Amino acid sequence: MNTATQLPEAFLRRLRLILPSDAVYHEVITSFLMPKLVSFRINRLKVNPQAVMTGLKGAGIRATAFDYWPHMFHCPAENRAMLLSHPFAENGLIYIQNPSSLLAALLLAPMPGETVLDLAAAPGGKTLILAELMENTGQISAVEAVKPRFFKLRHILELHGAKNVKTYLQDGKTVGFKCQGRFDRTLLDAPCSSEARFSIQEPASWSHWSEKKIQELARKQKQLLFSAIQATKPGGIIVYCTCSFAPEENEMVVNHVLKKLPDGIGLLPVELPIANLQRGLTHWNDKEMSPELVKTARILPDNVYNAMYLAVFIKGQFSRAP
Ligand code: SAM
Repeated sequence: MNTATQLPEAFLRRLRLILPSDAVYHEVITSFLMPKLVSFRINRLKVNPQAVMTGLKGAGIRATAFDYWPHMFHCPAENRAMLLSHPFAENGLIYIQNPSSLLAALLLAPMPGETVLDLAAAPGGKTLILAELMENTGQISAVEAVKPRFFKLRHILELHGAKNVKTYLQDGKTVGFKCQGRFDRTLLDAPCSSEARFSIQEPASWSHWSEKKIQELARKQKQLLFSAIQATKPGGIIVYCTCSFAPEENEMVVNHVLKKLPDGIGLLPVELPIANLQRGLTHWNDKEMSPELVKTARILPDNVYNAMYLAVFIKGQFSRAP
């Protein structure tokens, strides 16, 4: 029988401390055991949403729109294979994607004509939403450090008709220095321990997890976040997100930056149109952190949403930091 006890014991012990109540803890554990509904977004860069909905209905797929975003839908998990192999997906008219990704992009809220940096971009799911929000205008610089993932990113962008994106095979840690103050907005969807992707059905999803790995990732995340801030214009917006529960990869990264750049950066409250949110922690393992961290938030996973931690920064208007 599949039970949560198959997950690493240290992970479960830590999760119990991160989540405030028994009820929330048990809901989150259940989300590791159950397949999620499948969600997808209609790609308005290429197609009229009504034509896609008519086609999907004809194929027997009954999809329900999210009330805050009428071009994103969910349908039963058993539709996943049919959707993935449907010509709409193969031709880039729909993109199978969790709504948590949409919420991260909506928090960045890029506008047509702006310059946007996507600092850890592959496979490109969030880049596509940014391109759509920007109506394929302005410019997105999408950076990816891992070669096979970089080529996958290029393929996905091309397939989905994202024409305002330039791609760079590069270590994101170097971008801030090279492109100081260049971007209106920056998304850092950081490489992380991917705890939100743990699934009891896939032991490989947690086989590389360890507390040591979390510490290593936290170092990298801090460097990438400094780079993201450096590349952003004064007054610009930076969204930091991970699909990890670990405070070391989330609140402690944000806290570190707030401490190092006291006048250069501030947090804006994460406000989202969903109820399954938990405010950021202000202490972890006996360490007190900035009270400002309550402005950050975790999306709590359920049968629809993947877990995600989100922080929104605004760079000081007269900042020369970092
Ligand atoms: N934003 C992507 C999306 O929505 O499809 C997912 C990004 S994934 C969480 C993080 C990405 O960062 C991975 O593709 C990983 O290869 C890449 N990465 C790892 N280290 C990096 C670095 N130093 N600079 C840039 N990208 C890096």
